Amino acid sequence: AANMVVHVRIAPLGEEYILLLADDRTEITRTAAVRNDFVANVSHELKTPVGAISLLAEAIDGAADDEVAVRRFTTRLYKESARLAALVQDIIELSRLQGTDVVLAGERVDINDVLAEAVDRNKLPAEEKNIKISVGGNVDHDVFGDRDLLMTALRNLIDNAIRYSPEDTTVGVGLRQRDGLVQVSVTDQGPGIAPDEQDRIFERFYRIDAARSRHTGGTGLGLSIVKHVVANHGGEITLWSQPGQGSTFTVRLPMVDDTGTEENSAPLRG
Ligand code: ADP
Repeated sequence: AANMVVHVRIAPLGEEYILLLADDRTEITRTAAVRNDFVANVSHELKTPVGAISLLAEAIDGAADDEVAVRRFTTRLYKESARLAALVQDIIELSRLQGTDVVLAGERVDINDVLAEAVDRNKLPAEEKNIKISVGGNVDHDVFGDRDLLMTALRNLIDNAIRYSPEDTTVGVGLRQRDGLVQVSVTDQGPGIAPDEQDRIFERFYRIDAARSRHTGGTGLGLSIVKHVVANHGGEITLWSQPGQGSTFTVRLPMVDDTGTEENSAPLRG
């Protein structure tokens, strides 16, 4: 909540009082406001690459004789259209996830396998920054759910870890079983996230540094998608981070109970 501090000076006495105005909007009102902002945000976010694309097309047209300029504008045109495509894809994914009728395809998913593929698909961007992805652990129980969505979620977390990390660092990806849950953690040696930002980064289009996020190809929707996927699977996501000390995102998912006894399945509450 955005608290406001107002200084009030009582003139003749010269004394200064501090008036604290607390933001008492409830969480529900805040959520509703966030949802209403979504449409406005989507239009705003789409306008940026769409506008850039039409300007670049015009520039290419105007620079027809200048081969170097044409090549430069064309490269930027590709970049902007890739951004637009990523944005549209994320928006569709997110609205699909938010529909109340999202029925999980409901298959047994081998999370070892999903994680290995998610790591594999992030190999190239990691190599480009000389980032080592160190993978450890495995589980012997399946998760019940939608393989593609789980893949998207894990890919997004690894993708973020790579994008926000400096070169020549390590991203750790760990898998283990704990308290009847499957636990996936992604740790990076990036800039870390300040305590007051840690909840907000899961909101749609929220970025700590919009310019940097755009530069690295971010849409501002990645973590929002991860959060929804995890919630749809009855799991939870937590974050440990401190500025300057990297971040660890941990996803916990209920696992399929193969024994038929209660003790091996412990669905999350609340
Ligand atoms: P984006 O597409 O901008 O990466 P996300 O929803 O994935 O959007 O993340 C929201 C914001 O959270 C990012 O813009 C970034 O500021 C911050 N963030 C996400 N992951 C990390 C990370 N591993 N380290 C530091 N900051 C991160």
